[in-house]
Amino acid sequence: MRHASEVRLSHPPSIAPEEVTSVADRVATEVVAAHAADVDARGRFPAEAVAALGASGLLGVVSAASVGGSGQSLRAAVTVVSRVARECGSTGMVTCMHYAGTAVIEALGAEAVRTEIAAGRHLTTLAFSEAGSRSHFWAPLSTATADGDSIVLDARKSWVTSARQANSIVWSSKPVAGDKPSTLWHVPNPTAGLTVPAAFDGMGLRGNDSTPMNADGVRVPASARLGEDGGGFDLMMGTVLPWFACMSAGVSVGLMEAATARAAAHCAGTGFAHLGANLADLPTIRAYLARMRIRTDQAKCLLDDAVAAIEAGRPDTMLRVLEVRASAAENALEVTELAMRVCGGAAFRKEVGVDRAFRDARAAGVMAPTTDVLYDFIGKALVGLPLF
Ligand SMILES: Cc1cc2nc3c(=O)[nH]c(=O)nc-3n(C[C@H](O)[C@H](O)[C@H](O)COP(=O)(O)OP(=O)(O)OC[C@H]3O[C@@H](n4cnc5c(N)ncnc54)[C@H](O)[C@@H]3O)c2cc1C
Repeated sequence: MRHASEVRLSHPPSIAPEEVTSVADRVATEVVAAHAADVDARGRFPAEAVAALGASGLLGVVSAASVGGSGQSLRAAVTVVSRVARECGSTGMVTCMHYAGTAVIEALGAEAVRTEIAAGRHLTTLAFSEAGSRSHFWAPLSTATADGDSIVLDARKSWVTSARQANSIVWSSKPVAGDKPSTLWHVPNPTAGLTVPAAFDGMGLRGNDSTPMNADGVRVPASARLGEDGGGFDLMMGTVLPWFACMSAGVSVGLMEAATARAAAHCAGTGFAHLGANLADLPTIRAYLARMRIRTDQAKCLLDDAVAAIEAGRPDTMLRVLEVRASAAENALEVTELAMRVCGGAAFRKEVGVDRAFRDARAAGVMAPTTDVLYDFIGKALVGLPLF
């Protein structure tokens, strides 16, 4: 991303709501798909895909028109993330984190950065998870200390997608003062004192560069604060969670679409020569494919309804936000496992390409809030207990 911004100076086109699907389709087909296998095999960042998303206007699609973006909202972000993830889960996750960070920056960030994001020259991300509080992202242990006009950040972040590639990070810490759980900051990347102790080497999403990150005396101006000191929890729950939940579900849907399409094509075109029949002539195989399609469509319908609930401010919005990610993550586990099953040894030897979706799909359930935490939250809501 940093390299792309150095060579491309022209502003990308604005994208109308009815154009989002076709622009995402073009970038996904022409660029994202072309590099996906190599990104996975080498565990490298999908630089070409991110540059193409920037040049097409898609990185700035949710930025306001007043700063040069396309002025669209969550629905467009979900469309892009889902379509891109169908070709490359890593690119889907990088884009998901970019839009999640952008949602906060659009509301509370500096205009100069918002303009850069709108122009597709600035990739951002989130650093919430910490070594100490693990998946309980709402409880950072890292600190922010006032020192004159500066704030000094110290942290052991455990996972930061695009850690070595993003131009900035939406960062959580304890507040400078008071006893509220957190404050958010917008931290330029790189900044002196920010270090990445180890490269990412995951079983899936191998190109998403989601490394740990340490902050040792990282100095930012007080103006880097996003919202009020102590206002982090409300931003996490009110802005980041709805966006992240729907987009993460979008990644899962994209992976399910890929696994279902590839498995169906393999089964329809792979034969037993001695029987004169294809895999698809087996009723068991057809039934598994049907289950995959149903699970995928269930997740798509719930995702569409969750976005509709958010857009309309419906009373069931929070329930939908909690449900949508748990449901999509669980369905994706089942669909990608079935894809491995129906494609047999050909899948195990990576000839069909469903193994990548199988591995990538395993991330959603362990990303915070994890599926089991979401079940606990939903259960608490059902019996009238407070979530926290
Ligand atoms: C590919 C990938 C990219 C990521 N990118 C980012 C990023 O950009 N920014 C970021 O901030 N974080 C990111 N994360 C981190 C993620 O959000 C989680 O914080 C992390 O995956 C949690 O891992 P852990 O080992 O700390 O889990 P742990 O917290 O140790 O959880 C272990 C198990 O305990 C369960 N568990 C924990 N608490 C409860 C509970 N209360 N009730 C029931 N079960 C519970 C969990 O569900 C899980 O099964 C990323 C993670 C992955 C896998």
